[in-house]
Amino acid sequence: MHLGNRVAIAWALSAVLLTAGDLALAVAHGLVMPLLVTVSALQLLMLCSVPQAVRRLREQKAEQEHRALHDPVTELPNRILFHERVQQAIVRDGAVAVLLIDLDRFKEVNDTLGHHSGDQLLTMVGRRMSDELRDDDLVARLGGDEFAVLVSRAGPQKAIAVATRMRDLLFERFEVEGIGLELEASVGIAVHPEHGDHAEVLLQHADVAMYSAKEARSGVQVYSAERDTFSRGRLSLVTDLRRAMEVGEVIVHYQPKAALDTGTVVGVEALVRWNHPTRGLLLPGAFIPVAEHTGLMRPLTLHVLDLALAECRRWRDDGREMTVAVNLSTRNLLDHTLPAAVAHLLTRHGVPPHALELEITETTIMVDPPRARAVLASLDALGITLAIDDFGTGYTSLSWLCDLPVRTLKIDRSFVSRMDRHRGDSVIVRSTVQLARNLGMSVVAEGVEHAGTWAQLAELGCELAQGYFLGRPMSPEQLGAWLQAYRPSRANAAPVALTS
Ligand code: C2E
Ligand code: MG
Ligand code: MG
Repeated sequence: MHLGNRVAIAWALSAVLLTAGDLALAVAHGLVMPLLVTVSALQLLMLCSVPQAVRRLREQKAEQEHRALHDPVTELPNRILFHERVQQAIVRDGAVAVLLIDLDRFKEVNDTLGHHSGDQLLTMVGRRMSDELRDDDLVARLGGDEFAVLVSRAGPQKAIAVATRMRDLLFERFEVEGIGLELEASVGIAVHPEHGDHAEVLLQHADVAMYSAKEARSGVQVYSAERDTFSRGRLSLVTDLRRAMEVGEVIVHYQPKAALDTGTVVGVEALVRWNHPTRGLLLPGAFIPVAEHTGLMRPLTLHVLDLALAECRRWRDDGREMTVAVNLSTRNLLDHTLPAAVAHLLTRHGVPPHALELEITETTIMVDPPRARAVLASLDALGITLAIDDFGTGYTSLSWLCDLPVRTLKIDRSFVSRMDRHRGDSVIVRSTVQLARNLGMSVVAEGVEHAGTWAQLAELGCELAQGYFLGRPMSPEQLGAWLQAYRPSRANAAPVALTS
């Protein structure tokens, strides 16, 4: 065929295949778009027959459309298509429920096993949920570890039943590259017409409900307008937090930590409190999770460090060589400038680095292991002791643990407080003590509430203990009086408990 004829046919072909939308785009792009289409049509024509070329071009176009509306990892509908389907269901059925499903701690799985395994797991999750639903329901992946489910012709009761079923399904074992995993999820529900008249509003409200389900660890939560006001209230709480730090409402209480064999107090843990003018003394759980999401964690941590190091200076001036431990949050471990700020505070208060301990949790490290590792290495280089807090509750791999410059493990109180009653817990405590010893680390048992636990731990060779049995968190003044009155007991016996 003459080349001129081929170009003419290709041009005609491309015109047939273009929809009105494509044409508008072509016009908008001037000559570029038709030229590109012509070139690709021409290439096809050169390589194959006319009917084949037509088919290929149609396939390409269908593929483009599919890509625009589906998630590339799971092949599930994406947010745009989900939106569209919810709108259609609203018009068609009236009653529609939107479920927003967020996998708890998926990020840790991803970070621990790698992205490839994470993707595999997401695909399995999508497939398992889709298989369970009716044809006119729909599962979509909104991004990250967030899925949405459209349940047609459903009110709140039916939506709760479907949400519960989905959670149960996720809890059934998944096998990823030979490793068995069970997933937990938090589900938020919003239904039409009660909670919104549009797909976007329903999704937003399902998201608010999901967040409260996550916080309350309740699994499933239906949207409630009242609770939404409450969450806005919590945000204003955080706006107040900055002011509260300036006026001295954010204070630190100290909980003692003692050697199990002699009862000698070796240090304290600094625990933040907010002396709120109308709400009373707030515990960290009431404001730290929100501070984490609002950029306030750095100022808050530096504030706690400032108070704790000032106090530590005073004890040293009084001849008490106690260490002080401060908790770090996820945000802190992503902050490359933290080590320099800590070094500055140590110098300002004239406290030697070995008198400061910084506590981090396994979860905190796993959010971004390479970055956390870099920050921890700088803190270690300053001579500060690093401890893993709440050990046993996260997913730290043991090889990771050996690599980190961590010198202390704090066994989570959930194991310690039940070790006198549950054999499983006492086995975990015993193994952790041995593990720490073999790794050359010291070990602290948290949450020691009874004399029996104290004695049991001493027998296991655990070095240090912290908990209500020894002393509750106290204000600096209370701690001063407590230390004055405290008499350590002899080896292997419980101390005289003088709790406030
Ligand atoms: P954590 O670091 O594991 O602190 C120990 C928590 O256990 C404290 O709760 C303490 O009051 C409580 N506790 C101590 N002994 C016992 C016991 O014998 N029985 C029971 N049932 N509980 C005991 P608190 O003060 O409410 O702190 C909770 C968490 O908040 C802390 O857990 C820590 O993760 C976080 N936190 C506290 N202060 C700060 C801070 O300044 N910065 C950051 N990022 N987190 C903080
Ligand atoms: Mg701690
Ligand atoms: Mg702890």
